[in-house]
Amino acid sequence: MALASSSLTTVSGFDPESIRGDFPILQTRLHASGDNPGVPLVYLDNAATTQRPRQVIQSLVDVYEKHYANVHRGIHWLSDQSTDLYEEAREKVRTFINAREREEVIFTHGTTESINCVARSWGDANVRAGDEVLLSEMEHHANLVPWYQLAERTGCKVRHLPITDDGRLVMDALPQVLSERTRLVGITAVSNVLGTINPLPEIIRQAHAAGAKVLVDAAQSVPHMATDVQSLDCDFLAFSGHKMLGPSGVGILYGKRALLEEMPPFLGGGSMIRRVRLDGFEPADLPAKFEAGTPPIVPAIGLGAAIDYINQIGLDAIHAHELLLTRRAHDVLEALDAGVRFLGPKPEEKAGIVSFTLKNVHAHDVAQLLDRAGVAVRAGHHCTMPLHKRLSCTSSSRASFYFYNTLGEVETFGRALGDALRIFKRK
Ligand code: PLP
Repeated sequence: MALASSSLTTVSGFDPESIRGDFPILQTRLHASGDNPGVPLVYLDNAATTQRPRQVIQSLVDVYEKHYANVHRGIHWLSDQSTDLYEEAREKVRTFINAREREEVIFTHGTTESINCVARSWGDANVRAGDEVLLSEMEHHANLVPWYQLAERTGCKVRHLPITDDGRLVMDALPQVLSERTRLVGITAVSNVLGTINPLPEIIRQAHAAGAKVLVDAAQSVPHMATDVQSLDCDFLAFSGHKMLGPSGVGILYGKRALLEEMPPFLGGGSMIRRVRLDGFEPADLPAKFEAGTPPIVPAIGLGAAIDYINQIGLDAIHAHELLLTRRAHDVLEALDAGVRFLGPKPEEKAGIVSFTLKNVHAHDVAQLLDRAGVAVRAGHHCTMPLHKRLSCTSSSRASFYFYNTLGEVETFGRALGDALRIFKRK
């Protein structure tokens, strides 16, 4: 297959081959039987969830073997140990996103829960019938449904900032859809389908000028590019540990302290109270107020180890390498001459996510045939049904990268897709 050449082939000082040695699962071979050694796993489903390096796995083993107890509760040595590790992890997150204070970093179970917390707690207290919440047409269901539920409870209206056919926000329309009725703008930093990197500073500036708060869904950005909540000046920011080498079951809600202080607790139970009487309760101070029950102790500590690992690699190198992979993926798909339609903008304008449709071939068939060659991609609507409807398709195939993917893997992906298409032509 002739490939259009991408000018760069490596990011200086960055060697994904050596990094891969840290990821046991990436050594997997699939479909082996008898004398057949099978094929190597080519894992290109990183927007759904990433894999974990030994260092993160070992951090989980260490906690369970040496330090595990419930946090903030026991007056005993082991509980102090696990509490210290849990709070150290909070500090690592704080530094990673440059939050001003540790009280602004809430451990949740994932992006979905973080957004639900804001919609329920802040939304119910601040949004009334006649108010508006502004989202975009490219949001994940996690940043749509909680606001539709808020609309059902309060009678507020949900509006959407439109997108262009190539998957960028229509920024010229922002002044028209923002008004003094807009209470909150909920916007994804990076689309999980289009890969589009949205112009957050400008959106936040205009939203604040209109008197609206801003929630950033950063599930697809925090793992891949530097995030500074203070310079962004967003009011809330949500992301998940499992999309950045961490364990599943932990996520983050960042909120400006003044807002979190005013908000009622989201969930009620142990740990989130200062005092409980038979006729009521007083909530605890931040961050405990939003961490009801036993929190995701071990996943949070694992997320801290994941942040250490990412810091060691460096987000600039990660972003640059992913851009190379994305460019190459566009090249190999175009070279197939199979009526490929990319969902989203040019590689230079997006993160490492390449969603596409092929003429007369269903996305699920693409994914199944690629799986035979060991290549894991995602097929379907990727939790963005309104976005797919806007782009006049019901499903798409998605290859999504992380820093441990290689250009060789992108070529395997292209070759496997070419083979799959030949099978379809024969049918
Ligand atoms: N927002 C975006 C942009 C996502 O890509 C995802 C997951 O794919 C979510 C939210 C939901 O994340 P989680 O399932 O970890 O809560």
